[in-house]
Amino acid sequence: MARAVHDVRYAACMLATLLAAAALAAPPARPNIVFIMSDDHCTQAISCYGASAAPGLIATPGIDRIAREGMRFDRSSVTNAICGPSRAVMLTGKHSHINGFATNDQKFDGAQQTFPKLLQAAGYRTEVVGKWHLSSDPTGFDHWDVLVGQGDYWNPTFVVDGVKTVREGHVTDIIHREAVARLGALAEGARQGTPFALLLHHKAPHRNWMPQPRHYALFRDVVIPEPSTLFDDYAGRSTASSMQAMLVSRDLSWEYDLKVEARRLQPEGKPAQLDQWMANELGRFPAPVRDGIGGTYLAENDALYAAIGGMDARAQTSWKFQRYAKDYLRTAQGVDDSVGGILDELDRLGIAQDTLVVYTSDQGWFLGEHGWYDKRWMYEESFRMPLVVRWPGRIPAGSTSDALVQNLDFAPTFLEAAGAAIPADMQGKSMLPLLRAGGAQDKPFREAVYYRFEESKGPHTVPRHEGVATDRHKLIRFLDLKDDAGRPLLELYDLEADPDERTSLAGRPSHAALEAALLGRLEALRAQYRAP
Ligand code: CA
Repeated sequence: MARAVHDVRYAACMLATLLAAAALAAPPARPNIVFIMSDDHCTQAISCYGASAAPGLIATPGIDRIAREGMRFDRSSVTNAICGPSRAVMLTGKHSHINGFATNDQKFDGAQQTFPKLLQAAGYRTEVVGKWHLSSDPTGFDHWDVLVGQGDYWNPTFVVDGVKTVREGHVTDIIHREAVARLGALAEGARQGTPFALLLHHKAPHRNWMPQPRHYALFRDVVIPEPSTLFDDYAGRSTASSMQAMLVSRDLSWEYDLKVEARRLQPEGKPAQLDQWMANELGRFPAPVRDGIGGTYLAENDALYAAIGGMDARAQTSWKFQRYAKDYLRTAQGVDDSVGGILDELDRLGIAQDTLVVYTSDQGWFLGEHGWYDKRWMYEESFRMPLVVRWPGRIPAGSTSDALVQNLDFAPTFLEAAGAAIPADMQGKSMLPLLRAGGAQDKPFREAVYYRFEESKGPHTVPRHEGVATDRHKLIRFLDLKDDAGRPLLELYDLEADPDERTSLAGRPSHAALEAALLGRLEALRAQYRAP
């Protein structure tokens, strides 16, 4: 009897030891990946970043939840602040000049290596829903359901695994609904041993800022504070800042951007091309939406028609800023609704613990700072990207990092999390060690980042430039512009002393050593990344 009890105990003990050893030897958990990206969403409009555009008025509880339960990156930046190229950098982990998609009028070569293809090879199921914007069809996905080009806000056309499909409704809600529908099947696959990567890419809050009707009332009776640089005269900068065509005061279209009937303001004038486009677009909307748009703006617009004769240029700019900023924020609110809804769905499906969730945007945005809308520049507002990441039990909740991470780093991060090898030709770096350590680092993740913008011939006429940024300084070199002495035009900023980048220190004898050191860093990064 005693011998039998002993044998049972011994067997149980051995079994426990074997199970423990098996657990240690098991490969690391391969998380599902939900990569949520919006288009043109800036940190100034996100409450876990302080929502500097309107502190206390903006609330983004969905995005904030990811930060609260995971990590917020405070110095995440883009390598090229323009839509398609940023997406190509994320897919490949390579700078635009290497992946071959440097401007929006190019076509992404889908035959090249991307992280979705490598995840597929590692046994993942990969899907993309939403905005794609790379001209060529998606490759490396088991299922793809993407907008045609930029995509329309209302009744947009999608291409689903090669077949064009028109869907009724608002683009953010449609993308959200389709993603939720996919998640059920993906969760089931994951339970049976096939992890997934779902890329959920919203069009909003891209121009021309058309919110869902449920958000029209938001911000209606409040005044959005004007940024301190809304009327910037660029006196402290080089001539480059004056060359753009992205001024709230001058370049926003009354009808297309601001939803005002241009005829009522300028009865004699011919409508601008974009205004005409908007007039055509309205005809496509469902009648209740058209009425909603009219009803929402009617009273404010009537007041504008009555007052415009007595409004000077500054007053008109202030009016335009309010309409623009509110529509942008309302449209972004729809994205945050979706983020919160996806987190709830992961909870409902019981896979939140096994899923790495990322929220980011393809770059930042000028929400009136320096008088602008749009992006493209290496200046902070468009250079900075929101980035929050959650992986319960792996990333300490509520952690933050000021490491100089970039969109270049997504591909290697996802691969390492999936236990797949990171190809040597990827130029980014995995953020996973940083994430696991809650942001703690023995040495800087990266000393400096390289930036390069090429699309000078596109809309908004921002001159081509490249640059280097460290944790404190930024040097920008314009590729086609010269200073009075015939040298490449430079701008140099001390971000600590001058966070709004109002005063360039380039060419000042007091900062000559700093300028030379940053030029040296720029050349080193150009060599490292094989820049042209
Ligand atoms: Ca964009």
